[in-house]
Amino acid sequence: RVPVICIDGPTASGKGTVAAEVAKRLGYHFLDSGAMYRVTALAATRAGLAIEPSQEAAIAALARALPVRFEDGKVLLGADDVTEAIRTEEAGMNASRVSALPSVRLALVDLQHGFQALPGLVADGRDMGTVIFPNAPYKVYMTASAACRAERRYKQLISKGISANISELRADLEARDARDQSRAVAPLKPAADAQWLDNSELSIDQSVQQVLAGWLQ
Ligand code: C5P
Repeated sequence: RVPVICIDGPTASGKGTVAAEVAKRLGYHFLDSGAMYRVTALAATRAGLAIEPSQEAAIAALARALPVRFEDGKVLLGADDVTEAIRTEEAGMNASRVSALPSVRLALVDLQHGFQALPGLVADGRDMGTVIFPNAPYKVYMTASAACRAERRYKQLISKGISANISELRADLEARDARDQSRAVAPLKPAADAQWLDNSELSIDQSVQQVLAGWLQ
């Protein structure tokens, strides 16, 4: 079997951190598909494009030729290190907007399929198990309550010295969930053969253990 592990789920569910750690422990490659949408949104903004349906063709053209590279945990757009710039709340919201444009999604498929599958790949996103790697042997749908996710995001921001408001964060992530779940193309939903993992009460390490246990059994 092709060793692809898909970890999908809503925003701030901890799946990115868990997916990266699982990849590290297994010595697998890591595909952060959300970063591709984030970088596309950033590239569009820098090119002066409004992120809205009327600009779909222009944004998709950017995405098809996106000079993105993932190196040693860093994300590069051309020669620019955009690792931090793509992690802001605004960048996440913009990513969610570009990701609702069907031709942008299509433009990023090759980039996602181009990731090395051997010795193994851990793919993190919204549609890894449903659209990009439908035949993957192991799929996890990772979620946590909205209250938990807002609190985690809050702590993350505070620890970076960024002020934040927990109820605004929760409203933002619920708005993003709603958009991701209701879009016409590749809406966020669990694959039929995904294992659910609600990590509201779990530490990162416990979540990693659970994902690994499911894969290695
Ligand atoms: O996972 P992350 O928060 O980095 O994703 C940013 C946005 O990109 C999500 O809100 C979602 O709209 C979009 N996305 C997507 N499909 C993926 C990964 C991310 O639509 N596979």
